Amino acid sequence: MRLGGCNLTCTWCDTPYTWDWTGSSESGVAHQPSRELHPMTVEEVTERLLAYGTPLVVVSGGEPLSQQLRLLPVVENLRAGGVDVEIETNGTVVPAPQWAATGVRFNVSPKLAHSGVAKSRRIVPGALTALRALPGTCFKFVCAAPDDLAEVEEVVRAHALDNVWIMPRGQSPEEIADGLRALADPVGVRRWNLTGRLHVTVWGNQRGV
Ligand code: SF4
Repeated sequence: MRLGGCNLTCTWCDTPYTWDWTGSSESGVAHQPSRELHPMTVEEVTERLLAYGTPLVVVSGGEPLSQQLRLLPVVENLRAGGVDVEIETNGTVVPAPQWAATGVRFNVSPKLAHSGVAKSRRIVPGALTALRALPGTCFKFVCAAPDDLAEVEEVVRAHALDNVWIMPRGQSPEEIADGLRALADPVGVRRWNLTGRLHVTVWGNQRGV
């Protein structure tokens, strides 16, 4: 489930259609909220998701926690229906205390300087600390090159993060493969985890339907 709206404005964002209504991101396209956003009730969203019959639902964006109090009842309904839920977040919004009881997992992706976003907006210590305290949270950093790993180290050390994953930046299978090759050794030396982008490897930057 992809939610609209984001509180950051990363230049290389691969989902600018969720928030970029002015064409400020690299793509330069001004997307239309009337075309991209589809207001739905909690019941409508829950029903549609449960109809897929999948054991896991991943909530992404945009920034899902920007509308976390509206998201909570959907997630609670999914959990009551026996569905596991993971929530992707940029780590700048403090999670509401109610999340602890839902058993969801947060995949937190703090943004680095190459996002073009000011540090004070993209690194929010209170949010990182609160997310770190929830069971199962992992921290995933998008890296353009091995040089970025020093910046990741700073953030990891400053906020005592663990369960760290590194993912290459890229929107084509070739970029992902090149990134994985370049990052593998320096990530391994640091005892972090490395991941590709399976959907990009399979479908490139094609949008789902
Ligand atoms: S935080 Fe994520 S969705 Fe928001 S602008 Fe950055 S990459 Fe895009």
